[in-house]
Amino acid sequence: MAVNLLDFDLEGLAAYCERLGEKRWRAVQLFRWIHHKGAREFAQMTDLAKSLRSKLEGSAEIRPPALASEHASADGTVKWLFDVGGGNAIETVFIPEDDRGTLCISSQAGCAVACRFCSTGHQGFSRNLTSGEIIGQLWFAEHRLRERLQPVAGAAPQRAVDNVVMMGMGEPLQNYAALVPALRTMLDDHAYGLSRRRVTVSTSGMAPMIDRLAVDCPVALAVSLHAPDNALRDRLVPLNRKHDLDALLAACRRYLEAAPRDFVTFEYCMLDGVNDGDEQARALVRLVSGRVPCKFNLIPFNPFPGSGLVRSPRERIAAFARILQDAGIVTTIRKTRGEDIDAACGQLAGEVQDRTHARARLARRRVIEIATAGGAA
Ligand code: SF4
Repeated sequence: MAVNLLDFDLEGLAAYCERLGEKRWRAVQLFRWIHHKGAREFAQMTDLAKSLRSKLEGSAEIRPPALASEHASADGTVKWLFDVGGGNAIETVFIPEDDRGTLCISSQAGCAVACRFCSTGHQGFSRNLTSGEIIGQLWFAEHRLRERLQPVAGAAPQRAVDNVVMMGMGEPLQNYAALVPALRTMLDDHAYGLSRRRVTVSTSGMAPMIDRLAVDCPVALAVSLHAPDNALRDRLVPLNRKHDLDALLAACRRYLEAAPRDFVTFEYCMLDGVNDGDEQARALVRLVSGRVPCKFNLIPFNPFPGSGLVRSPRERIAAFARILQDAGIVTTIRKTRGEDIDAACGQLAGEVQDRTHARARLARRRVIEIATAGGAA
């Protein structure tokens, strides 16, 4: 199969050019054509030497994931479903705001972490995405949206995506080898030129990989926290049994020495009667105070079939936020966007040929929880 040039960051592309017997600096031209200009055909790359173009024609291609569907929400949110083969589909969401556009990107087809409140987690896991499939989501979205923003042919291109958040399907730090070249391409001035502050990796708590990211490609960090203590977090985010809160917070603290922002964002999904009590808010304050400079982002839970969970009432979320704010912690409540097209946070389901039997495991876990609750009553 032809080499997918989207798999390479600039360094990788330079090495590939060398293998073709070309000078390394040719890679900059090629990289700019692909990512700056969105070229898909080598024939479009008119300032590349003809000899290089013909070598590329025979050995390489620019292959983003195949578009399966596009849905636009009444609030301007756009969701794309990409077919990544083998019966798997991934989702990418663009969220426009007054002053910026944010793209939420997937890193895996499904997810093996199986968080209790997450639709993707209930789908199970099929496979890691390649670097090309990760950056291909940005490539597609940026150039698709630019066409709309620049209706007049010949007008100067306008950037469409200002922020990237790795918060779609998958745990990005469990697909580290593919993630890092994709992040480097996002940051590269010859590609998308996004600042490190405007690229966010969100993790459910892969503590050792947070340390590696600090060295290899420090960008903004978000952590899915969702509970103030290990007992509850073990149930909501099973990865906590491997990397508990102490290990996670210590890794966050270390990360800030290299990070482009001086805080970590903690995501906290608000689940009625599960993690949204006043005492749990106070426990959160005790957990993070003096340990990790942070902000909290409270996310109203987006129900999905079979979750067995309910969104916290609006007043409860506001009361919870007040406790954090009164303790001096910057806290926001996420606006729910794209609900009419199932693009809201936690709803990304795609279509996954599960190899982990997550659905059956989660159903078993629910039965045990219900039985335990019944026994205690
Ligand atoms: S919240 Fe993130 S890490 Fe957890 S199951 Fe969903 S996609 Fe995976």
